Amino acid sequence: MTKIGLEIHCQLTKLESKLFCSCKANYREFEPNHNICPVCMGLPGSLPMLNQKAVKSATSIAMALSCDTPEKIAFFRKNYFYPDLPKNFQITQLNVYGDMSIGGEGYVDVEGKKIKIRRIQLEEDPGRLIYEGESERTKITLVDYNRAGTPLVEIVTDPDFENPRQVRVFLNILSDLLENLGVSEPGLEGAIRADGNVSIEGGNKVEIKNIGSFHDLEKALHFEITRQQSLSERDIEIVQETRHWDDKRKITVSSRSKEEDQDYRYFLENDIPWVKIDQEIITSLQKDMPESISSKKERFVKKFDIAPQVADILASDKYYSDLFENAHSNSDAKDIANLITTDLMGFVDTKEKREESKLTSHHLSDLIAAINDKTLTRTSSKTALQEIVKSGKSVKELLSEMDLGQVSDSSEIENIIIQVFEEEKQAVLDAKENPETVNYLVGKVMQKTKGKADPTKTLELIKSKLG
Ligand SMILES: [Zn+2]
Repeated sequence: MTKIGLEIHCQLTKLESKLFCSCKANYREFEPNHNICPVCMGLPGSLPMLNQKAVKSATSIAMALSCDTPEKIAFFRKNYFYPDLPKNFQITQLNVYGDMSIGGEGYVDVEGKKIKIRRIQLEEDPGRLIYEGESERTKITLVDYNRAGTPLVEIVTDPDFENPRQVRVFLNILSDLLENLGVSEPGLEGAIRADGNVSIEGGNKVEIKNIGSFHDLEKALHFEITRQQSLSERDIEIVQETRHWDDKRKITVSSRSKEEDQDYRYFLENDIPWVKIDQEIITSLQKDMPESISSKKERFVKKFDIAPQVADILASDKYYSDLFENAHSNSDAKDIANLITTDLMGFVDTKEKREESKLTSHHLSDLIAAINDKTLTRTSSKTALQEIVKSGKSVKELLSEMDLGQVSDSSEIENIIIQVFEEEKQAVLDAKENPETVNYLVGKVMQKTKGKADPTKTLELIKSKLG
């Protein structure tokens, strides 16, 4: 049986400062090595100060993942040398002397299967190495310490996944949950990274690292399962090791034998006192906890009578659900939900497009109102929506500027129907024989009016003309 476990690193991107100093958590805006100080560089004599907000954010993640939270937490030094780690140790958490990390023993429900969360810990992100040219052949490696010390939450699962598809579903659920909590922005490059470990038929466990995206992780897992199966069929031992995903060749390559915990010479970080997580903090976090995605979905279905699939799309994406919640009034909620999930999704499908979009909740309410009072057809509303996303113009402005108004005037529609009947003689005969084919003619009229003809009236007029 295939067993897959995950180690997910999630940056707390919504925080102001790094985990142990006042440098910015948002390192992305800086020139290389311009977001650093003696603390995150580990200079002698500097002392770390724990970011209390990071403790709260990490605790809220633990609570949202149904974890137990300890009464007090401690930090440890994990010693190893690597050029992106200026202190030569990483400040992290460890559970060997009892449960001292920020959470553990939680779970996530993935399509009816419980995926156990073994542990959640708060730690600092290392810096970044930048390879000039191709990473394997380059002689030049640059290092940027701007990221060093940014707050990171590590989430470790049990090897409960049976296939890469379950992993993908889980990561989507987790990303939505973190975004909904308001602690991280999954759309930011490098904000959520996942490593996997794979074993088959009770064999040795192989870890896969260096994975750029969730999509690559799925490919890497598929490759690794096939590699292990083929070794096992030939009775070759599967070595316990760490392998790197080579994005160019789409294979995993052996990188080093796996360090054991003792290789890291963990010891208590004495510069940071133990932190008490008292009931008061837990209660206040519980009070501020946003509505969960599943209960939001349930509310949308119950209160607004929205189809469960539509409610699911809305509730699991904070961008859409915020737009929806700010736009809806009880009467047109269903229409707005449909407008978002059928038309808008195609126009704002990336983080960049969402940031550039000029669309507000008001636009959505105005569009639905224009469709309902028949000044705009459903087809034209799509054109209008696309234009609003680009320019932010009001629905009223667009109606006058873009000639989108619905054509309801019978004689105007009738003239077009006459033209269509001339051009589509066979279709007219077909429609007389078989009334179900009448939609073809309606379609032709809509085409000629660029979607502006009132569809109900068009159908009525065509039917009466067919006799
Ligand atoms: Zn710093």
